[in-house]
Amino acid sequence: MSSLPILVLNSGSSSIKFAMYQADYGERTKIFEGAVDGIGTDNGKFWINDATGQKLVDQTPHLPNRSVAFSLVEKTLHSGQFPAPKAIGHRMVCGGPTVLENQLITPALIDEMEKYTAFAPLHTPIAVYIMRESLRLFPGVPNFVCLDSYFHRTMPEVVTHMPIPEEYSAMGVRRFGAHGISYESIVYQLQPTVPEKLIVAHLGNGASISAIRKGACVDTSMGLTPTGGIISGTRTGDIDPGVLLFILRKIAETASDASEAADKLETVASKKAGLLGVSDLSNDMRDLREAIGKGNAKARLAVDKFVWTIQKWIGGYVAELGGLDMLVFTGGIGENDIACRAEVCTGLEALGIVIDPERNNVRGEATISADTSRVEIRVIPPAEDLIIVNHVVRLLGD
Ligand code: ADP
Repeated sequence: MSSLPILVLNSGSSSIKFAMYQADYGERTKIFEGAVDGIGTDNGKFWINDATGQKLVDQTPHLPNRSVAFSLVEKTLHSGQFPAPKAIGHRMVCGGPTVLENQLITPALIDEMEKYTAFAPLHTPIAVYIMRESLRLFPGVPNFVCLDSYFHRTMPEVVTHMPIPEEYSAMGVRRFGAHGISYESIVYQLQPTVPEKLIVAHLGNGASISAIRKGACVDTSMGLTPTGGIISGTRTGDIDPGVLLFILRKIAETASDASEAADKLETVASKKAGLLGVSDLSNDMRDLREAIGKGNAKARLAVDKFVWTIQKWIGGYVAELGGLDMLVFTGGIGENDIACRAEVCTGLEALGIVIDPERNNVRGEATISADTSRVEIRVIPPAEDLIIVNHVVRLLGD
């Protein structure tokens, strides 16, 4: 295959990230990356950096909606300043029960995935919007979907099946997991010596943790939606269903109909809970650390709950894997919050997890286990774009 410019599009609820790679046989070279951020807020940002980090575009546009945001990206990419993409890879959290493989995007495929918006309600609406716009605005360029749920497809039925009546299981309700492209990128970066028993904690604004045996996922904390699992910045994580029913009944007292009540419950569980809900302050670990430094007890409780759930999950996974060879921290908190890594590992010494405080005193890639630790503890930033490019190249070959 000759050299191919491949565009990667990765959209979140208020941002569209993008990157262009040159794919040449086994070589992948980043040409530029950028983002439109702050969609629907007064803090719109639009930037593009070249591969050395030099700013090519740096603007603060008004971004009232995703349409204005994506049009800005598309017009800039078509301005002649950048190479035209020969293929486009889209990140998608979950395509529903019928779309489990990464593949070429067609209008019919988008319609099918959109049926399952409720399985990733914060992510799917903008992702399918951008896929449709991308087919329209880049005619003749093949677009491919790369699913987070793809990495989790190896999980056994005992893990994916939900303990609910069969009629709902038949509608596709099951554990799909999320952050799969990040996990896949950690396994990719560990090659060729991927440890047999591996736990990866992806701790970002959304947080999850996975158990991986011989490079294949056996369990992950997020469930049908990214709201399940361990506590995240603004999401409950796993919770007694009775709590949601209690809140729903409270909301229903003033809601005009069932749909409004459901939407409000979704906002509570996905946007107002987690670290933000417990601290009553912020979903950002940097703010919580600052508040803890000033003696804020609620911020302390939020971080303690975050650490406690992660520790419980690690304990469960060690049992499930029958031991542990390596623990990897990734994501914005995993890479940058030195105290969080120390707090998670403290108390897990009986599992062979012993952190070295000096080695842990870093941000970014490092090995942070003590010499006495049976388990290797590492910090590895994810390389999600690279995984999407690799899938696009493979699918173009097919
Ligand atoms: P997303 O889930 O949106 O991809 P990221 O993986 O980028 O999120 O992580 C963002 C989160 O990382 C922030 O909300 C914050 O909690 C945390 N974070 C980022 N930088 C730092 C830092 N220097 N120290 C502690 N936490 C940080």
